[in-house]
Amino acid sequence: MFGDVVLDARQERAPDMLQILTVEDNPGDALLVREMLTEAVEGQLVVHHAPRLSAGIDRLLDGRYDCVLLDLSLPDADGLDGLAQIRTAAVDVPVVVLSGRADEGLAMRAVQDGAQDYLVKGQVDGRLLVRSITYAIERKRAEVQLAHQALHDQLTGLPNRALFFDRLGQALTRLGRRDSSLAVLFCDLDRFKVVNDSLGHTAGDRLLVDVAARLEDVLRAGDSAARFGGDEFVVLCEDIAGEQQAIQIAERISGALSSPFLLDGDEVFVQTSVGIALAVDAQARPEALIRDADAAMYRAKERGGGVYEVFDDAMRARAVHRQQVEHALHRAIDRHELEVHYQPQVKMATGALYGVEALVRWRHPERGLLGPAEFIPAAEETGIINALGLHVLEVACAQSARWALARPGMPIRMSVNLSARQCQHPDLVPTVADVLRRTGADPALLCLEVTESTIMEDLGAMGAVLAGLKELGLSLAIDDFGTGYSSLRALQRLPFDIVKIDRSFVTDLHRSEQEAAIVAAVISLAHALGKRTVAEGVEQVEQVERLRALGCDVGQGFHYARPTPVAELGYGL
Ligand code: C2E
Ligand code: CA
Ligand code: CA
Repeated sequence: MFGDVVLDARQERAPDMLQILTVEDNPGDALLVREMLTEAVEGQLVVHHAPRLSAGIDRLLDGRYDCVLLDLSLPDADGLDGLAQIRTAAVDVPVVVLSGRADEGLAMRAVQDGAQDYLVKGQVDGRLLVRSITYAIERKRAEVQLAHQALHDQLTGLPNRALFFDRLGQALTRLGRRDSSLAVLFCDLDRFKVVNDSLGHTAGDRLLVDVAARLEDVLRAGDSAARFGGDEFVVLCEDIAGEQQAIQIAERISGALSSPFLLDGDEVFVQTSVGIALAVDAQARPEALIRDADAAMYRAKERGGGVYEVFDDAMRARAVHRQQVEHALHRAIDRHELEVHYQPQVKMATGALYGVEALVRWRHPERGLLGPAEFIPAAEETGIINALGLHVLEVACAQSARWALARPGMPIRMSVNLSARQCQHPDLVPTVADVLRRTGADPALLCLEVTESTIMEDLGAMGAVLAGLKELGLSLAIDDFGTGYSSLRALQRLPFDIVKIDRSFVTDLHRSEQEAAIVAAVISLAHALGKRTVAEGVEQVEQVERLRALGCDVGQGFHYARPTPVAELGYGL
């Protein structure tokens, strides 16, 4: 007589009342529980009843319950199996086991399997039962919140990288059973740094939150967006018919993010670059898919941003090539195949030696001597540039220390190139300090060269890095000057000692008045700011004359000498 319906019919489902579900096959027990509870807390909870596990699961899938009271011996489930099924049906709902067996071992296992409490029938009264339910709800709430925090981005509330990987893994498993594809879309805002730098971090955060909201708006119900940190958002779309559909989604995303964002009354425009990677079977690995989408996004950025790019075979080939180069470079460092050559830098006024620039070479066992153009880009992309750059710095500093010993009173400056990746490395400053200490090189003779484009990538962050390096007592050069943008501001704001005028300006110096005017302007500006100038790529005597007339301090180029191993340097070294 005590079916489901009977108990429910007598009690309205009020929104502010706790909804308790008892899963209990014994009608007497069910009635007893209901009476104990309603007596203890009149009007604060509603007790629903399911006489079998299957009925309980149906109810949990249908509606919202605050707590389940679960019997462990049911006609359609026995023991902890019932608990597992209940948890699967409703992970977020706390479960208190109300069992006929006073079995400590069973109680322990129930709690380990996710029950919030284990009570024994006949040993509870209304007050105890209510307290157990209250605690169970509270404990579950805290647990759910913790789990949510661990798996979501704090700022936007979107899933984080860990949760995304998990979902992608599950989606890939499902893919095996379906005749469709799955797409990963890697989205990166193109001008986020500018917004952050110019409007401040609070505005930057607001922008990210707004972007997340628009992303979620534009996606279909089953798709999920995640934030990977910074301004990187990654989207997972299941049931994709093919590349065309993925492209449509990418276009929808770009479209949604292209209308202006309103931040503190300012209209802010951002563009999004999207990289797409598709998986057609369950063989694909989550990391590889994300890496491919990332690589495609990189491509989209290279094309100027605001576009999408689909990962294809050419990119795959490039990725494989990069991996091979990375692997080979690791070995090259271990086997001492990397050499450092030095190119003299000469004082223009006197022709005396000013210093040298260290330039890396790879003595490849099969391919012969390779120039940096053949491996630095791949080293940069894979991150192995950090190890490579450290190696070059060590070799150059050791050489500098040797010269200082051998030629007291005749200082030779040592210039070493720093890549963008190295500059972004959080340990750069202590690493350089450590190399100086270990090699005994004089920091006053060391100059680190950073290209103008590296500096422009993240002007804000570079300031602190460069200041840290300066504190070590070394000097800094801005390399390839004139090839980037907003150079004047950087020149003025950042602690550079030397400006290296890019070879492209020097090449036509004696043939083009326009180039000559630029070089003249750079030299006088640098001098006005108290900086030295080094002209790169000096090949002809006419260039030397012109540069000397313009007051350029130092020249470097084939006219003086090519980069050579230390033994062949000349200049009395
Ligand atoms: P860079 O820093 O601008 O170095 C000068 C480059 O110009 C060198 O090329 C040098 O051989 C070349 N060069 C010098 N004088 C002349 C000349 O008169 N005419 C012409 N046509 N070229 C001249 P290299 O050695 O092939 O290096 C190319 C680039 O690779 C360097 O440009 C630098 O950006 C990078 N690189 C070299 N060594 C390292 C390193 O240890 N670490 C990092 N991160 N980058 C390096
Ligand atoms: Ca350089
Ligand atoms: Ca240069």
